[in-house]
Amino acid sequence: MIHDFTSGIVRVRFAPSPTGHLHVGALRTALFNWLFARHHEGAFVLRIEDTDVVRSSEEMSRTILEALRWVGLDWDEGPVYQSQRFELYREAARVLVDKGLAYYCFCTPEEIEKRRQETQARGEHWKYDRHCLNLPEKTKKELKEQGRRAAIRFLVPDGLTEFNDLIHGQIKVENRNLEDFVLLRGDSFPTYHLSVVVDDIDTKITYVIRGDDHISNTPKQILLYQAFGAPVPRFAHLPLILGPDRKKLSKRHGDTSVLSFRDKGYLPLAFFNFIAQLSWSPGSEEKIYTIEEMVQKFSLDRVSKGSPVFDLKKLEWLNSRLINEMPVGELIVDLRPWLKKYGLWSEELVKSQKGWLEKVINLVRSRSRTLMDLSEMIAPFISDQVDYEPGAVEKYLLKPELDWLLPALRKDFQALEKFEAQEIEKILRDRAEQAGVKAAVLIHALRVLVVGRAVSPGLFEVLELIGKEKVLARIAKLSEARKVINKTEEG
Ligand code: GLU
Repeated sequence: MIHDFTSGIVRVRFAPSPTGHLHVGALRTALFNWLFARHHEGAFVLRIEDTDVVRSSEEMSRTILEALRWVGLDWDEGPVYQSQRFELYREAARVLVDKGLAYYCFCTPEEIEKRRQETQARGEHWKYDRHCLNLPEKTKKELKEQGRRAAIRFLVPDGLTEFNDLIHGQIKVENRNLEDFVLLRGDSFPTYHLSVVVDDIDTKITYVIRGDDHISNTPKQILLYQAFGAPVPRFAHLPLILGPDRKKLSKRHGDTSVLSFRDKGYLPLAFFNFIAQLSWSPGSEEKIYTIEEMVQKFSLDRVSKGSPVFDLKKLEWLNSRLINEMPVGELIVDLRPWLKKYGLWSEELVKSQKGWLEKVINLVRSRSRTLMDLSEMIAPFISDQVDYEPGAVEKYLLKPELDWLLPALRKDFQALEKFEAQEIEKILRDRAEQAGVKAAVLIHALRVLVVGRAVSPGLFEVLELIGKEKVLARIAKLSEARKVINKTEEG
């Protein structure tokens, strides 16, 4: 029996195992399922595959949900926790035994290992030898009395198993190459094959979209659907993601957990675009697509078979582009947790000072690749404390003439009625000319005193936005700033 796909019912699931953080490969699987479900107005089910009680943790489940929410994914059903459904799996395995489609196996791992070695020593290929398939009832009883606990193995039928993968095309496996795999272990815990199929049937999943690493599991699972008399879903296996060195993406390529990208200051929408475009292209244009656009354009036909390469430069490009293009009001929403983290947040910022904050952001955002960069650039506008970069101090603040030039300039500034960029620039240039020094000497020195660094957006706009009072106070801190150098030398 197969689903009537013309009915258009799309029910997909994302089924992470909470044995580690959600990483980029798993997120791509989640995104494709979600986009497919939303495109077809179907259902997206979230299932936590925590049957491995030793390696799974609640903490990991929580961070997985947190990562999905951060990227902007929601789910229609679940999360379904497999650890709460063990009875269902046990019952399903027993049903197959009753139907003669599975059998009890009493072999211990040691016995199996011994027979495997013997088989291989004869130069033959090993697969489970069905030792327990036809055990007499009497023997089974004796083994039970000896305290042996039986596993349940699936009886792989003869024949050929075939499926049409929506990305890779036709895939065929001779059943004789498959072993009678275990469904329920001796300790009565289900294996992945059993729990996944029981749940997919139970939640009426019509499409299974998951990583390539599951291709070899699919024929076994199809046989299980058939054994349960359930409709077989359609399958789409997504190509492996590679690192820039064209090897499987892994920790060697840096932290690939989704939340680490949040913590580095990437915007969820930039990250969504980046991950979704690993294997799929919404269009020929290099741009940031809105989620609605991606939902509207998504199709499995446009998913490529070839392995995509994880290129951080592209993510950086998308992120800085988005920081520059998005409405400033929305950017403030994303920036809020960052400003809080840096101790720069106050309610006034989004109330009485909102217009001012927007101007500051507009002034600095073209130089920011991440929200982290952006918050660091905003810091000197909000905070009274300036972190002086020793290199910048050394280069621009040590000139002896600054000892009298800066106090003079400070007086000029004090006298300015309108502390505005143009006026500030004019008065600074006049002062430089009068003193016979290059204006750049004053510009560089002021920049370091006011923002702590050797680079910033146009200094005069910066000064205007920081405001007269603060600028005057910072100019007066010349000797304090110079101490940074002695400190680093001592340290
Ligand atoms: N829990 C499996 C994994 O994390 C996914 C199972 C599936 O999609 O069938 O790889």
